Amino acid sequence: MASFSGALKLVDLDDFITPSQECIKPVKIEKTSDKGGAIKIASDGSYVQLDEAGTETKLQKAKISLADCLACSGCVTSAESVLITQQSQEELYRVLQENETLVKEGKEKKLIVVSLSPQSVASLAAACKLTADEATGKLVKFLKQLGVNYVFDVTFSRDFSLIESAREFLRRYRKSKEVGSIPMLASACPGWVCYAEKTHGSYILPHISSTKSPQQIMGSLVKDYLSSLLGKSPEQIYHVTIMPCFDKKLEASRNDFYNDMYRTRDVDCVITSGEVDIMLQDKGVQLPQLESQPLDEPVGGVCDGQLWSHVGGGSGGYLEYILRYVVFELFQHEIKEISYKIMRNKDFRECSVEIDGQPVLKFAAAYGFRNIQNIVQKIKRGKCPYHFIEVMACPSGCLNGGGQVRPTEPETSKELLDRVEAIYTAVKTRKPEENPLVERLYQDWLGGRDSEKAIKLLHTQYHEVEKFVSALNIKW
Ligand code: SF4
Repeated sequence: MASFSGALKLVDLDDFITPSQECIKPVKIEKTSDKGGAIKIASDGSYVQLDEAGTETKLQKAKISLADCLACSGCVTSAESVLITQQSQEELYRVLQENETLVKEGKEKKLIVVSLSPQSVASLAAACKLTADEATGKLVKFLKQLGVNYVFDVTFSRDFSLIESAREFLRRYRKSKEVGSIPMLASACPGWVCYAEKTHGSYILPHISSTKSPQQIMGSLVKDYLSSLLGKSPEQIYHVTIMPCFDKKLEASRNDFYNDMYRTRDVDCVITSGEVDIMLQDKGVQLPQLESQPLDEPVGGVCDGQLWSHVGGGSGGYLEYILRYVVFELFQHEIKEISYKIMRNKDFRECSVEIDGQPVLKFAAAYGFRNIQNIVQKIKRGKCPYHFIEVMACPSGCLNGGGQVRPTEPETSKELLDRVEAIYTAVKTRKPEENPLVERLYQDWLGGRDSEKAIKLLHTQYHEVEKFVSALNIKW
Protein backbone atom coordinates (compact mmCIF):
# COMPACT_ATOMS: atom_id res chain seq x y z
CA MET A 1 0.00 0.00 0.00
CA ALA A 2 1.39 3.38 -0.98
CA SER A 3 0.75 6.12 1.49
CA PHE A 4 0.25 9.74 0.39
CA SER A 5 -0.68 11.23 3.71
CA GLY A 6 -2.90 10.41 6.61
CA ALA A 7 -5.81 11.83 4.65
CA LEU A 8 -5.34 9.93 1.37
CA LYS A 9 -4.26 6.38 0.66
CA LEU A 10 -3.73 4.48 -2.59
CA VAL A 11 -4.00 0.74 -2.77
CA ASP A 12 -2.94 0.14 -6.33
CA LEU A 13 -0.31 2.00 -8.29
CA ASP A 14 -1.06 0.32 -11.63
CA ASP A 15 -1.93 2.60 -14.49
CA PHE A 16 -5.56 3.50 -14.83
CA ILE A 17 -8.06 1.45 -16.81
CA THR A 18 -5.59 -1.09 -18.06
CA PRO A 19 -7.30 -4.07 -19.68
CA SER A 20 -6.22 -6.25 -16.76
CA GLN A 21 -7.67 -4.02 -14.07
CA GLU A 22 -11.39 -3.93 -13.63
CA CYS A 23 -13.55 -1.70 -11.53
CA ILE A 24 -15.57 -3.76 -9.09
CA LYS A 25 -19.17 -3.06 -8.23
CA PRO A 26 -20.66 -5.12 -5.43
CA VAL A 27 -24.11 -6.46 -6.36
CA LYS A 28 -26.66 -7.96 -4.01
CA ILE A 29 -27.59 -11.57 -4.71
CA GLU A 30 -30.69 -13.06 -3.09
CA LYS A 31 -30.10 -16.50 -1.55
CA THR A 32 -33.05 -18.81 -2.08
CA SER A 33 -32.12 -21.06 0.87
CA ASP A 34 -29.09 -22.11 2.90
CA LYS A 35 -28.04 -24.48 0.14
CA GLY A 36 -29.13 -22.46 -2.86
CA GLY A 37 -27.60 -19.25 -4.19
CA ALA A 38 -24.09 -20.47 -5.02
CA ILE A 39 -22.38 -18.55 -7.84
CA LYS A 40 -20.10 -20.05 -10.47
CA ILE A 41 -18.46 -18.88 -13.66
CA ALA A 42 -19.92 -20.45 -16.79
CA SER A 43 -17.82 -21.57 -19.77
CA ASP A 44 -18.59 -18.33 -21.64
CA GLY A 45 -17.22 -16.26 -18.74
CA SER A 46 -20.61 -15.14 -17.44
CA TYR A 47 -21.74 -15.63 -13.86
CA VAL A 48 -24.52 -18.07 -13.06
CA GLN A 49 -26.45 -18.73 -9.88
CA LEU A 50 -27.36 -22.29 -8.85
CA ASP A 51 -30.52 -23.16 -6.98
CA GLU A 52 -30.97 -26.20 -4.69
CA ALA A 53 -31.74 -28.47 -7.64
CA GLY A 54 -28.57 -27.29 -9.41
CA THR A 55 -30.45 -25.31 -12.07
CA GLU A 56 -28.38 -22.46 -13.44
CA THR A 57 -29.70 -18.93 -13.90
CA LYS A 58 -27.49 -16.53 -15.81
CA LEU A 59 -26.89 -13.34 -13.83
CA GLN A 60 -27.17 -9.96 -15.47
CA LYS A 61 -23.95 -8.13 -16.18
CA ALA A 62 -23.25 -5.43 -13.63
CA LYS A 63 -22.88 -2.09 -15.40
CA ILE A 64 -20.63 0.57 -13.97
CA SER A 65 -21.49 4.21 -14.43
CA LEU A 66 -20.14 7.39 -12.89
CA ALA A 67 -22.69 7.10 -10.12
CA ASP A 68 -20.87 3.97 -8.96
CA CYS A 69 -17.46 5.62 -8.85
CA LEU A 70 -15.90 5.03 -5.47
CA ALA A 71 -13.15 7.58 -6.12
CA CYS A 72 -10.80 4.66 -5.60
CA SER A 73 -8.04 6.49 -7.50
CA GLY A 74 -8.00 3.70 -10.08
CA CYS A 75 -8.21 6.40 -12.72
CA VAL A 76 -4.97 7.98 -11.52
CA THR A 77 -1.97 6.77 -13.49
CA SER A 78 1.06 5.43 -11.64
CA ALA A 79 3.08 8.38 -12.95
CA GLU A 80 0.48 10.72 -11.52
CA SER A 81 0.43 8.90 -8.22
CA VAL A 82 4.20 9.27 -7.83
CA LEU A 83 3.75 12.99 -8.36
CA ILE A 84 0.98 13.10 -5.79
CA THR A 85 3.19 11.24 -3.31
CA GLN A 86 5.61 14.14 -3.61
CA GLN A 87 2.86 16.42 -2.44
CA SER A 88 2.05 15.86 1.18
CA GLN A 89 2.75 17.38 4.54
CA GLU A 90 5.59 14.83 4.95
CA GLU A 91 7.27 16.39 1.93
CA LEU A 92 6.95 19.87 3.47
CA TYR A 93 8.42 18.53 6.73
CA ARG A 94 11.31 17.05 4.71
CA VAL A 95 12.07 20.38 3.02
CA LEU A 96 11.87 22.22 6.37
CA GLN A 97 14.26 19.66 7.90
CA GLU A 98 16.60 19.98 4.92
CA ASN A 99 16.63 23.75 5.42
CA GLU A 100 17.73 23.32 9.04
CA THR A 101 20.59 21.08 7.92
CA LEU A 102 21.62 23.56 5.21
CA VAL A 103 21.70 26.40 7.77
CA LYS A 104 23.87 24.31 10.10
CA GLU A 105 26.25 23.65 7.22
CA GLY A 106 26.36 27.38 6.43
CA LYS A 107 24.71 26.82 3.05
CA GLU A 108 21.86 28.76 1.48
CA LYS A 109 18.45 27.36 2.39
CA LYS A 110 15.32 27.28 0.23
CA LEU A 111 12.84 30.09 0.59
CA ILE A 112 9.52 28.57 1.61
CA VAL A 113 6.34 30.31 0.44
CA VAL A 114 2.82 29.17 1.35
CA SER A 115 -0.27 30.38 -0.52
CA LEU A 116 -3.51 29.90 1.41
CA SER A 117 -6.78 29.34 -0.45
CA PRO A 118 -9.80 31.11 1.03
CA GLN A 119 -11.83 27.87 0.96
CA SER A 120 -9.24 26.13 3.14
CA VAL A 121 -9.18 29.07 5.53
CA ALA A 122 -12.98 28.80 5.89
CA SER A 123 -12.76 25.04 6.45
CA LEU A 124 -10.07 25.30 9.13
CA ALA A 125 -11.86 28.27 10.72
CA ALA A 126 -15.04 26.19 10.98
CA ALA A 127 -13.13 23.24 12.45
CA CYS A 128 -11.55 25.49 15.09
CA LYS A 129 -14.61 27.71 15.69
CA LEU A 130 -12.85 30.86 14.48
CA THR A 131 -13.66 33.60 11.97
CA ALA A 132 -11.83 33.56 8.64
CA ASP A 133 -9.66 36.52 9.72
CA GLU A 134 -8.77 34.88 13.04
CA ALA A 135 -7.98 31.55 11.36
CA THR A 136 -5.79 33.29 8.76
CA GLY A 137 -3.71 35.10 11.39
CA LYS A 138 -3.23 31.95 13.46
CA LEU A 139 -2.39 29.82 10.41
CA VAL A 140 0.25 32.38 9.43
CA LYS A 141 1.72 32.10 12.94
CA PHE A 142 1.67 28.29 12.82
CA LEU A 143 3.34 28.13 9.41
CA LYS A 144 5.99 30.69 10.33
CA GLN A 145 6.79 28.74 13.49
CA LEU A 146 7.46 25.73 11.29
CA GLY A 147 9.99 27.73 9.26
CA VAL A 148 7.89 29.12 6.40
CA ASN A 149 9.16 32.49 5.11
CA TYR A 150 6.11 34.04 3.42
CA VAL A 151 2.37 33.36 3.64
CA PHE A 152 0.13 34.83 0.92
CA ASP A 153 -3.60 34.75 0.16
CA VAL A 154 -4.64 33.05 -3.11
CA THR A 155 -7.57 35.49 -3.50
CA PHE A 156 -4.98 37.88 -4.84
CA SER A 157 -4.16 35.65 -7.83
CA ARG A 158 -7.86 34.93 -8.25
CA ASP A 159 -8.21 38.64 -9.12
CA PHE A 160 -6.03 37.96 -12.16
CA SER A 161 -7.87 34.75 -12.99
CA LEU A 162 -11.27 36.50 -12.89
CA ILE A 163 -10.14 39.47 -15.00
CA GLU A 164 -8.44 37.24 -17.56
CA SER A 165 -11.46 34.91 -17.73
CA ALA A 166 -13.82 37.83 -18.35
CA ARG A 167 -11.59 39.27 -21.07
CA GLU A 168 -11.26 35.84 -22.67
CA PHE A 169 -15.04 35.44 -22.64
CA LEU A 170 -15.44 38.77 -24.43
CA ARG A 171 -12.98 37.68 -27.15
CA ARG A 172 -14.80 34.38 -27.61
CA TYR A 173 -18.23 36.05 -27.63
CA ARG A 174 -17.14 38.42 -30.39
CA LYS A 175 -16.21 35.48 -32.57
CA SER A 176 -18.94 33.18 -31.32
CA LYS A 177 -19.60 31.81 -34.82
CA GLU A 178 -16.25 29.97 -34.62
CA VAL A 179 -16.51 26.36 -33.51
CA GLY A 180 -15.46 25.85 -29.91
CA SER A 181 -15.80 29.50 -28.86
CA ILE A 182 -19.14 29.54 -27.07
CA PRO A 183 -20.16 28.26 -24.60
CA MET A 184 -17.03 28.99 -22.61
CA LEU A 185 -16.55 26.56 -19.76
CA ALA A 186 -14.75 27.57 -16.56
CA SER A 187 -11.29 26.09 -16.06
CA ALA A 188 -10.50 26.65 -12.37
CA CYS A 189 -11.55 23.13 -11.31
CA PRO A 190 -8.90 20.49 -12.13
CA GLY A 191 -11.34 17.68 -11.30
CA TRP A 192 -13.53 18.79 -14.17
CA VAL A 193 -10.59 19.51 -16.51
CA CYS A 194 -9.10 16.06 -15.81
CA TYR A 195 -12.47 14.43 -16.57
CA ALA A 196 -12.85 16.42 -19.81
CA GLU A 197 -9.34 15.51 -20.98
CA LYS A 198 -9.80 11.83 -20.23
CA THR A 199 -13.30 11.41 -21.59
CA HIS A 200 -14.44 14.19 -23.92
CA GLY A 201 -11.23 15.49 -25.48
CA SER A 202 -11.65 16.83 -28.98
CA TYR A 203 -15.08 18.44 -28.82
CA ILE A 204 -15.12 19.76 -25.26
CA LEU A 205 -11.54 20.97 -24.70
CA PRO A 206 -11.79 23.95 -27.13
CA HIS A 207 -14.69 25.24 -25.00
CA ILE A 208 -12.67 25.27 -21.77
CA SER A 209 -11.29 28.67 -20.84
CA SER A 210 -7.53 28.84 -21.30
CA THR A 211 -7.14 31.08 -18.24
CA LYS A 212 -5.11 29.47 -15.49
CA SER A 213 -6.68 28.71 -12.12
CA PRO A 214 -5.86 30.96 -9.12
CA GLN A 215 -3.47 28.28 -7.80
CA GLN A 216 -1.44 28.23 -11.00
CA ILE A 217 -1.41 32.01 -11.44
CA MET A 218 -0.09 32.20 -7.87
CA GLY A 219 2.54 29.69 -8.98
CA SER A 220 3.64 31.97 -11.83
CA LEU A 221 3.67 34.99 -9.53
CA VAL A 222 5.84 33.29 -6.94
CA LYS A 223 8.24 31.47 -9.25
CA ASP A 224 8.53 34.18 -11.88
CA TYR A 225 7.93 37.56 -10.22
CA LEU A 226 8.78 37.03 -6.55
CA SER A 227 11.90 35.07 -7.44
CA SER A 228 13.23 37.84 -9.66
CA LEU A 229 12.38 40.50 -7.06
CA LEU A 230 14.30 38.60 -4.42
CA GLY A 231 17.18 37.81 -6.77
CA LYS A 232 16.57 34.06 -6.55
CA SER A 233 16.20 31.50 -9.28
CA PRO A 234 12.82 29.70 -9.33
CA GLU A 235 14.16 26.42 -7.95
CA GLN A 236 15.48 28.18 -4.86
CA ILE A 237 11.88 28.78 -3.83
CA TYR A 238 9.70 25.96 -2.47
CA HIS A 239 6.08 26.95 -3.12
CA VAL A 240 3.30 25.26 -1.16
CA THR A 241 -0.42 25.86 -1.62
CA ILE A 242 -3.15 24.92 0.84
CA MET A 243 -6.23 23.83 -1.08
CA PRO A 244 -9.70 22.33 -0.57
CA CYS A 245 -9.18 19.24 -2.76
CA PHE A 246 -6.75 16.54 -3.85
CA ASP A 247 -7.31 17.37 -7.51
CA LYS A 248 -5.22 20.49 -7.02
CA LYS A 249 -2.23 18.18 -6.48
CA LEU A 250 -2.78 16.73 -9.95
CA GLU A 251 -3.13 20.22 -11.37
CA ALA A 252 0.18 21.32 -9.85
CA SER A 253 1.80 18.18 -11.29
CA ARG A 254 0.82 18.89 -14.90
CA ASN A 255 3.71 19.14 -17.33
CA ASP A 256 2.35 22.51 -18.47
CA PHE A 257 3.39 23.94 -15.10
CA TYR A 258 6.89 22.48 -15.05
CA ASN A 259 9.87 24.69 -15.81
CA ASP A 260 12.35 22.56 -17.78
CA MET A 261 15.14 25.09 -17.57
CA TYR A 262 15.13 25.33 -13.78
CA ARG A 263 13.68 21.87 -13.18
CA THR A 264 11.03 23.17 -10.89
CA ARG A 265 7.24 23.40 -10.68
CA ASP A 266 5.23 26.59 -10.23
CA VAL A 267 3.64 24.90 -7.23
CA ASP A 268 5.94 22.33 -5.61
CA CYS A 269 3.55 20.93 -3.05
CA VAL A 270 -0.21 21.05 -2.47
CA ILE A 271 -1.54 20.32 0.99
CA THR A 272 -5.26 19.99 1.64
CA SER A 273 -7.16 21.65 4.48
CA GLY A 274 -7.57 18.21 6.09
CA GLU A 275 -3.82 17.62 5.90
CA VAL A 276 -3.19 20.95 7.64
CA ASP A 277 -5.58 19.79 10.35
CA ILE A 278 -3.45 16.64 10.69
CA MET A 279 -0.30 18.78 10.87
CA LEU A 280 -1.83 20.77 13.73
CA GLN A 281 -2.61 17.52 15.54
CA ASP A 282 0.90 16.13 14.81
CA LYS A 283 2.45 19.19 16.37
CA GLY A 284 -0.01 19.26 19.27
CA VAL A 285 -1.12 22.76 18.29
CA GLN A 286 -4.55 24.13 19.20
CA LEU A 287 -5.11 26.79 16.54
CA PRO A 288 -7.38 29.01 18.72
CA GLN A 289 -4.63 29.25 21.34
CA LEU A 290 -2.00 30.57 18.94
CA GLU A 291 -1.26 34.26 18.58
CA SER A 292 -2.08 35.91 15.28
CA GLN A 293 0.34 37.16 12.71
CA PRO A 294 -0.71 39.15 9.63
CA LEU A 295 -0.46 37.79 6.10
CA ASP A 296 2.72 38.97 4.49
CA GLU A 297 2.95 42.55 3.41
CA PRO A 298 3.45 43.15 -0.27
CA VAL A 299 6.82 42.16 -1.55
CA GLY A 300 6.90 44.59 -4.44
CA GLY A 301 3.20 43.93 -4.81
CA VAL A 302 2.94 40.15 -4.73
CA CYS A 303 0.29 40.18 -2.03
CA ASP A 304 -1.60 43.00 -0.38
CA GLY A 305 -1.42 41.57 3.11
CA GLN A 306 -5.16 41.33 3.76
CA LEU A 307 -7.83 38.68 3.50
CA TRP A 308 -10.33 39.50 0.75
CA SER A 309 -13.05 37.56 -1.01
CA HIS A 310 -15.18 37.81 -4.15
CA VAL A 311 -18.93 37.83 -4.52
CA GLY A 312 -20.59 34.95 -6.34
CA GLY A 313 -20.15 31.87 -4.15
CA GLY A 314 -17.51 29.60 -2.72
CA SER A 315 -16.01 28.48 -6.04
CA GLY A 316 -14.46 31.79 -6.98
CA GLY A 317 -17.42 33.75 -8.33
CA TYR A 318 -16.52 33.26 -12.01
CA LEU A 319 -20.10 33.31 -13.29
CA GLU A 320 -21.06 36.53 -11.52
CA TYR A 321 -17.86 38.41 -12.30
CA ILE A 322 -17.85 37.49 -16.00
CA LEU A 323 -21.54 38.30 -16.39
CA ARG A 324 -21.24 41.75 -14.79
CA TYR A 325 -18.05 42.54 -16.71
CA VAL A 326 -19.42 41.50 -20.08
CA VAL A 327 -22.82 43.15 -19.71
CA PHE A 328 -21.08 46.40 -18.85
CA GLU A 329 -18.58 46.11 -21.71
CA LEU A 330 -21.14 45.09 -24.33
CA PHE A 331 -24.26 46.97 -23.24
CA GLN A 332 -22.95 49.64 -20.82
CA HIS A 333 -25.36 48.28 -18.27
CA GLU A 334 -24.52 47.68 -14.61
CA ILE A 335 -26.07 44.57 -13.08
CA LYS A 336 -27.17 45.22 -9.49
CA GLU A 337 -28.42 41.79 -8.53
CA ILE A 338 -28.29 38.38 -10.17
CA SER A 339 -31.20 36.03 -9.61
CA TYR A 340 -30.97 32.37 -10.45
CA LYS A 341 -33.44 29.81 -11.61
CA ILE A 342 -32.85 26.38 -10.11
CA MET A 343 -32.97 23.84 -12.88
CA ARG A 344 -32.83 20.08 -12.17
CA ASN A 345 -31.38 20.43 -8.67
CA LYS A 346 -29.71 23.04 -6.45
CA ASP A 347 -26.33 22.40 -8.13
CA PHE A 348 -27.64 23.37 -11.56
CA ARG A 349 -28.71 27.01 -11.76
CA GLU A 350 -29.10 29.41 -14.64
CA CYS A 351 -29.52 33.15 -15.02
CA SER A 352 -30.18 35.29 -18.05
CA VAL A 353 -29.89 38.93 -19.03
CA GLU A 354 -32.42 40.81 -21.12
CA ILE A 355 -31.75 44.19 -22.67
CA ASP A 356 -34.80 46.12 -23.95
CA GLY A 357 -36.88 42.99 -23.48
CA GLN A 358 -34.55 40.90 -25.63
CA PRO A 359 -32.60 37.97 -24.12
CA VAL A 360 -28.91 38.59 -24.73
CA LEU A 361 -26.95 36.31 -22.42
CA LYS A 362 -27.60 33.08 -20.58
CA PHE A 363 -25.16 31.73 -18.01
CA ALA A 364 -25.28 28.61 -15.83
CA ALA A 365 -23.50 26.97 -12.91
CA ALA A 366 -23.24 23.18 -13.08
CA TYR A 367 -21.67 21.48 -10.07
CA GLY A 368 -21.13 17.75 -9.60
CA PHE A 369 -20.69 15.12 -12.32
CA ARG A 370 -24.38 14.43 -12.77
CA ASN A 371 -24.90 18.01 -13.95
CA ILE A 372 -21.60 18.10 -15.81
CA GLN A 373 -22.63 15.06 -17.86
CA ASN A 374 -25.88 16.77 -18.71
CA ILE A 375 -24.08 19.92 -19.93
CA VAL A 376 -21.54 17.90 -21.92
CA GLN A 377 -24.31 16.01 -23.71
CA LYS A 378 -26.09 19.28 -24.53
CA ILE A 379 -22.90 20.73 -26.06
CA LYS A 380 -22.28 17.50 -27.97
CA ARG A 381 -25.77 17.68 -29.52
CA GLY A 382 -25.41 21.39 -30.29
CA LYS A 383 -28.28 22.13 -27.92
CA CYS A 384 -26.55 24.03 -25.14
CA PRO A 385 -28.41 27.31 -24.55
CA TYR A 386 -25.68 28.88 -22.40
CA HIS A 387 -22.90 31.31 -23.23
CA PHE A 388 -20.84 30.55 -20.12
CA ILE A 389 -20.96 27.72 -17.59
CA GLU A 390 -19.21 27.70 -14.23
CA VAL A 391 -18.36 24.00 -14.08
CA MET A 392 -17.18 22.50 -10.79
CA ALA A 393 -16.70 18.82 -10.01
CA CYS A 394 -17.86 18.93 -6.39
CA PRO A 395 -21.54 19.22 -5.54
CA SER A 396 -21.91 22.57 -3.70
CA GLY A 397 -18.54 23.65 -5.14
CA CYS A 398 -15.11 24.19 -3.61
CA LEU A 399 -16.24 24.79 -0.04
CA ASN A 400 -17.36 21.16 -0.16
CA GLY A 401 -14.09 19.91 -1.69
CA GLY A 402 -12.85 16.41 -0.92
CA GLY A 403 -9.80 17.74 0.93
CA GLN A 404 -11.72 19.87 3.42
CA VAL A 405 -11.74 19.04 7.12
CA ARG A 406 -14.35 16.34 7.78
CA PRO A 407 -17.10 16.81 10.37
CA THR A 408 -16.79 15.26 13.79
CA GLU A 409 -19.85 13.66 15.35
CA PRO A 410 -22.51 14.66 16.14
CA GLU A 411 -22.21 17.39 13.47
CA THR A 412 -23.34 16.28 10.01
CA SER A 413 -21.56 17.13 6.73
CA LYS A 414 -24.44 19.43 5.83
CA GLU A 415 -24.25 21.31 9.15
CA LEU A 416 -20.50 21.72 8.78
CA LEU A 417 -20.84 22.92 5.19
CA ASP A 418 -23.41 25.51 6.30
CA ARG A 419 -20.93 26.85 8.87
CA VAL A 420 -18.07 26.87 6.33
CA GLU A 421 -20.25 28.82 3.88
CA ALA A 422 -21.27 31.32 6.56
CA ILE A 423 -17.62 31.93 7.50
CA TYR A 424 -16.60 32.27 3.85
CA THR A 425 -19.34 34.73 2.95
CA ALA A 426 -18.61 36.89 6.01
CA VAL A 427 -15.22 37.90 4.55
CA LYS A 428 -15.29 41.37 3.02
CA THR A 429 -15.42 41.37 -0.76
CA ARG A 430 -13.71 43.48 -3.39
CA LYS A 431 -13.94 43.64 -7.17
CA PRO A 432 -10.72 42.40 -8.80
CA GLU A 433 -10.21 45.71 -10.64
CA GLU A 434 -10.37 47.55 -7.29
CA ASN A 435 -7.18 45.80 -6.22
CA PRO A 436 -4.59 48.51 -6.91
CA LEU A 437 -1.75 46.01 -7.16
CA VAL A 438 -3.30 44.07 -10.02
CA GLU A 439 -2.96 46.83 -12.59
CA ARG A 440 0.54 47.60 -11.32
CA LEU A 441 1.54 43.96 -11.77
CA TYR A 442 0.02 43.83 -15.26
CA GLN A 443 2.48 46.60 -16.11
CA ASP A 444 5.55 45.81 -13.95
CA TRP A 445 5.47 42.04 -14.14
CA LEU A 446 3.69 41.21 -17.39
CA GLY A 447 4.47 44.25 -19.54
CA GLY A 448 0.82 45.07 -20.26
CA ARG A 449 -2.50 43.24 -20.42
CA ASP A 450 -2.14 41.71 -23.86
CA SER A 451 1.60 41.18 -23.84
CA GLU A 452 3.10 37.87 -24.89
CA LYS A 453 4.25 37.38 -21.32
CA ALA A 454 0.71 37.90 -19.95
CA ILE A 455 -0.65 35.29 -22.35
CA LYS A 456 2.16 32.86 -21.50
CA LEU A 457 1.94 33.24 -17.72
CA LEU A 458 -1.82 33.65 -17.23
CA HIS A 459 -3.06 31.06 -19.74
CA THR A 460 -2.57 27.36 -20.31
CA GLN A 461 -3.65 24.55 -22.63
CA TYR A 462 -5.38 21.20 -22.36
CA HIS A 463 -4.56 17.82 -23.82
CA GLU A 464 -6.79 15.03 -24.97
CA VAL A 465 -5.87 11.79 -23.22
CA GLU A 466 -5.93 8.80 -25.53
CA LYS A 467 -8.37 6.16 -24.41
CA PHE A 468 -7.18 2.64 -23.70
CA VAL A 469 -8.90 -0.09 -25.67
CA SER A 470 -10.40 -1.99 -22.83
CA ALA A 471 -12.85 -4.73 -22.14
CA LEU A 472 -14.39 -2.62 -19.45
CA ASN A 473 -18.02 -1.69 -19.58
CA ILE A 474 -17.70 1.80 -18.17
CA LYS A 475 -20.16 4.48 -19.19
CA TRP A 476 -18.78 7.91 -18.47
FE1 SF4 B 1 -11.40 21.00 -6.23
FE2 SF4 B 1 -13.98 20.36 -5.99
FE3 SF4 B 1 -13.27 22.94 -6.23
FE4 SF4 B 1 -13.06 21.30 -8.30
S1 SF4 B 1 -14.96 21.93 -7.28
S2 SF4 B 1 -11.49 22.77 -7.61
S3 SF4 B 1 -12.47 19.36 -7.34
S4 SF4 B 1 -12.76 21.58 -4.54
